Amino acid sequence: MNIYLAIIIGSLLAAWFLGVLSDRLSARAMRPAPPEELADVFDAETYARSQAYTLASMKFSTVSETFNTLILVLAILAGGFNLLDVLVRTAGFGPLATGLAYIAALALISGVIGLPFEIYHTFVLEKRFGFNTTTPGTFVLDRIKGLVLGAVIGGALVAGLLLFLRETGPYAWLLCWGFAVLLSLGLTYVAPTWILPLFNKFTPLEEGELRGKLMAFADKAGFELSGIFVMDGSKRSTKGNAFFTGFGKRRRIALFDTLIKEMDADEIVAVLAHEVGHARLGHIKKRLATGILKAGAVFYLMSLFLDSAGLFAAFGMEHMSLYAGLVFFVLLYTPLSLALGVVANAVSRKHEFEADAFAARTTGRPDAMISALKKLSASNLSNLTPHPLTVWLEYGHPPVLARIRALAAGR
Ligand SMILES: [Zn+2]
Repeated sequence: MNIYLAIIIGSLLAAWFLGVLSDRLSARAMRPAPPEELADVFDAETYARSQAYTLASMKFSTVSETFNTLILVLAILAGGFNLLDVLVRTAGFGPLATGLAYIAALALISGVIGLPFEIYHTFVLEKRFGFNTTTPGTFVLDRIKGLVLGAVIGGALVAGLLLFLRETGPYAWLLCWGFAVLLSLGLTYVAPTWILPLFNKFTPLEEGELRGKLMAFADKAGFELSGIFVMDGSKRSTKGNAFFTGFGKRRRIALFDTLIKEMDADEIVAVLAHEVGHARLGHIKKRLATGILKAGAVFYLMSLFLDSAGLFAAFGMEHMSLYAGLVFFVLLYTPLSLALGVVANAVSRKHEFEADAFAARTTGRPDAMISALKKLSASNLSNLTPHPLTVWLEYGHPPVLARIRALAAGR
C-alpha cells in the first residue's frame, strides 16, 4: 500500500475514533447530581438539562463526524480528487486560475455537504435547548458574507502561495511563510473595523456604573483600553462571551449584550480582569509567536512533499500540480495537526488558570470571578464532568469545576 495513503486514511480514521471514544467516555462520566460547588446555580432541572444538552451535542458530533470522515475517505479511495481535477482542467484556464478553481470547487463541495448539519445544529439542536435566536434571514446572510469573505481572503492566500511556489525555487517556502504571516497580521489589524462589523453591531458601552467600574479597573491595572463595546451577540444565541480585538493602543474589549444582561458589574469586571490577565501575562504574544513559528515549520514541511510522486499516486492523480499538492499536504498533515492541537489545548488551559488567578489577585475579588464562571456555565448548560480524554482532546479551557476549585484555593 502507498505509504502516504496509509498515513492519511489511518489518521483520519484515528481522529474519528478518538472523537467517538471521547464522547462515549464523557457520557459515562456523568453523575446523577451536580458537584457541590455548583449546586447553587445548577438546580435539579438545570442539571438535567445540561446533561441532556451534552448528550444531544455529542450525538450530533458523532453523526456529523462519521458522515464527514466516510465521505472524505470514500472520495480519496474512489479517485474523487482526480475526477474533479480532470473536470476543472477541461475549462482550459491558465495554471493559476485552474488552481484557484480547483480549490474553490473543493471548498464549495465541502460547504454544501456541511450545510444540512449547520442548519440542523442551529435550528433544531440549539433551538430545542433555547439557545438559538438566529433568524433564517440572519443565517442565510451569514453564509453569503462568509462565502464572499472566504473567496476574497482564501483566494488571495492561495493565489499568493501558488505564485511564490511557481516562481521562486528552493526558498519558496520562506516567501510563502512571510506572505501568510503578513496576511494574517493584516487581517487581525483590520478585523475590528472592517470584518467584525459585517456580522455584528458594536456600540460603545453607555456611561454608568458598569462603565465606571470597568474604566476604574483598567486605570488601576495601568491597562490602556481604547474602548469598551457592546456586541449584539443576542442576534444569534443566548450564550454570553467577551473578547479583545486589535493590537496595542487600538485594543478594545467587546462584551456580548447577553453577558451584560446576566451578570452584575463586579462579575463583568472580573471577566475584563481575566482578559487583561491574558495580555499582561504575555499569553497573547506567546500565542502569536508560536503561531508564526508553527506556520514556518508547516511551510517547510510542505516544501518537502509538494512534488512527491507518491503523494499524487495516493490520490490516483493523472496530473501533478502545485494546487493539488497543497490540498494533499493539508491532509497528510492531519496526524501532526492532531498532536499539535493537544499540546496547544494544554498550554491554553494553563493560561486560563493563570488569567483566572490574575483576575482574582488584581480585583481582590476571587468570589466575583467564581460567580461569573458559575453563571456562565449554568446559562451555557456546560458539561460539569467531562472525561479527562475529552478535556485533553478538545478543551482549550479547563472544566469549570477545576477553575472554581483553583480560585477558591487561591492558586
Ligand atoms: Zn481566558
